[in-house]
Amino acid sequence: MSDYLIEANLIGGAWRDATGEKIEVTNPATGAVLGHVPSFGASETEEAITAAADAFPGWAATDLGTRVGHLRRLHQALMDNQEALAALLTAEQGKPLAEARGEIAIGAAYVLWFAEEIRRLKGEIVPAPVNGRRLLVTHHPVGVVAAITPWNFPSSMLARKLGPALAAGCTTVVKPASLTPYSALAWGRLAEEAGFPPGVVNIVTGSAREIGGAIMSDPRVRKVTFTGSTEVGKTLIRQSADTVKKVSMELGGNAPFIVFDDADLDRAVEGAMIAKYRNSGQTCVCANRIYVQSGIHDSFVARLTEATKALKVGDGTEPGVEQGPLVDRSAFDKVTDLVADAVSHGAEVATGGGAHTLGGTWFEPTVLTGITPAMKIAREEIFGPVSAIVRFEDEAEAIEAANDTEFGLAAYAYTQNVARIFRLTETLNYGLIGINEGLITTVEAPFGGLKESGLGKEGGSQGLSDYLDSKYTCIGGL
Ligand code: ADP
Repeated sequence: MSDYLIEANLIGGAWRDATGEKIEVTNPATGAVLGHVPSFGASETEEAITAAADAFPGWAATDLGTRVGHLRRLHQALMDNQEALAALLTAEQGKPLAEARGEIAIGAAYVLWFAEEIRRLKGEIVPAPVNGRRLLVTHHPVGVVAAITPWNFPSSMLARKLGPALAAGCTTVVKPASLTPYSALAWGRLAEEAGFPPGVVNIVTGSAREIGGAIMSDPRVRKVTFTGSTEVGKTLIRQSADTVKKVSMELGGNAPFIVFDDADLDRAVEGAMIAKYRNSGQTCVCANRIYVQSGIHDSFVARLTEATKALKVGDGTEPGVEQGPLVDRSAFDKVTDLVADAVSHGAEVATGGGAHTLGGTWFEPTVLTGITPAMKIAREEIFGPVSAIVRFEDEAEAIEAANDTEFGLAAYAYTQNVARIFRLTETLNYGLIGINEGLITTVEAPFGGLKESGLGKEGGSQGLSDYLDSKYTCIGGL
């Protein structure tokens, strides 16, 4: 782990130690201080942008084969160091080691995917309306890209942004979440090991407002790619207007998980467990509202409650642990508040409901029934290990309720009725839909939300095009 626990920032190929204030990074499971990273601000961010802008022409003009080679080595470096990187991720974020290993692997897979995708990028020669002309459509890297990432997937969220940016020929300035900076800083070392030239990847830790302000006001930054809360995303979209930056936004969700009477019960329970409790409920695609049709309601609740009680809670480094702590006290307080609000409005606790006996920021894996739309838990992203169950009678009612939110990231449904499956793909107003599957993220498919859940896609071929500008050239007089 120690090789990749780096306390400095990477700016223009130089590792820079803190000169003034520092950010303390702690392990959410033990409270132990892992170390400190610089609390840099606007001036270091400007230096990083300058480094990225200076490196851009050279990197954009680098042979495709060379660029692909760097990306393939980056993928290999991630996989060769999977154990060390996973240990670092668990230490700063709290997720079970098995999940951390999975996050490193999917991050590596994104890098490899974009190394492959860039080789298949095609321009076009489109028919001209008159003879003597050729109309070319070509694709070009957008330029300097700023990537702002969250604490829940500090490594793989960066992979989805750095992968396509570097493949496309862009250079980057990364601002990781202050709770989990080490997983991002490790990417700086990995990029060096893979041979990326200085200035292509720059990483700055510190004040979100100052770093964000410098990024958003600088005309040299041509694109901002952000994963985080809808509130901050909206601020960044507003700030992007002044210099007309491209934006990719992966924002909050409020995923419905609908279980119809005709569902395969075993599969539905298994899917709900993974869609709800992965990363202790701290993912933007976590099942937030679980709608269960009347005929299957009681047996589903009984089975889900049994499986929830059986979850092994503890420090993510212990063998077999499935539920780590919440990332910090404010995350814990928010979940506590949502559960208290639901219970005060009539929700019933089938299991859990409060602080875990382990103390710290562990919250008991919880199942609540009798959830109604009036409760805050039905409207806000829970980001904790709480299953909130709503009973429903018919399909139309479930779809209307599922769509009754400003969010539109992920939705899940369990049914064996093929006609209904096709209806759901049309009526569920969500960017990602899992039918009889609770874990659907994959590098091959576009990940992205509708409505206030975001703009743009990550993964798939769309994930690359978001980092490219197209140009049309008309050649006349032929
Ligand atoms: P979360 O609630 O998941 O922590 P946030 O949206 O608060 O999500 O944070 C996601 C990332 O955005 C973090 O890296 C955070 O430091 C950064 N961030 C927060 N506020 C701003 C801002 N005003 N400008 C730029 N980045 C910000």
